Amino acid sequence: MIPERQSVSESVATRLSVYLRCLTLLESEEVRHVSSETLAQRFDLNSAQIRKDLAIFGEFGVRGVGYEVDTLKRHLLGLLGLDRTRRVAIVGAGHLGTALADYGGFHSGEFEIAALFDVDPGKIGTRTRTGVRVYDVSELPGVVESQGIEIGVITVPGEAAAEVAERCFGAGLKAILNFAPVRLNVPPGVRLKNVDLKINLETLSFYIAK
Ligand code: NAD
Repeated sequence: MIPERQSVSESVATRLSVYLRCLTLLESEEVRHVSSETLAQRFDLNSAQIRKDLAIFGEFGVRGVGYEVDTLKRHLLGLLGLDRTRRVAIVGAGHLGTALADYGGFHSGEFEIAALFDVDPGKIGTRTRTGVRVYDVSELPGVVESQGIEIGVITVPGEAAAEVAERCFGAGLKAILNFAPVRLNVPPGVRLKNVDLKINLETLSFYIAK
């Protein structure tokens, strides 16, 4: 039985996403079957960890044969909730927000940037290079509802992030990706992920520091 999603750790969910990427690559190479050992060797993963992670959700492999690549990929897409397109709103139509909205990597179908939101009257009503429309942030609840948007991305200055997060919760968004360099408080039932390039660079710096 599939466990309650909220009880699955984020590191497991992240690894499912990594496995999906690996399987997609194998599929493009027309590989039909793969063992956890081969998957681990090829992509620098841990075979016991792969088996343990997948076993949380069911029995996907056959002893001695391994996993059927397309079947496991389909299972992972289902587990990750990617068997349908998830619509995303970006709040903050500045440098980062518009770059994300126009990023070609989302065009493979799992995610669609449905709308941008801003407070700047000079930006409201315009479209990005790839045609994503910028709405007034006060329209967030209505657009979220009418366009079936499920994920919010925050790309506003730090001082506006808490207020924007409140607007996102108020509009019914249950998953938020925050790029602003501030810690946000979220109500129960809302999932928040922070992205911080600077922290990643600082971590790298730690490892190269003498
Ligand atoms: P920017 O100034 O170009 O864009 C910010 C946009 O937010 C502007 O269009 C502004 O009008 C809009 N805005 C301000 N208040 C708002 C509100 N209350 N509601 C809606 N829109 C509002 O800034 P940027 O360079 O795109 O950076 C955006 C954010 O992303 C900043 O917080 C920055 O620190 C952060 N950032 C994070 C990373 C990272 O690695 N996480 C990298 C780059 C930038």
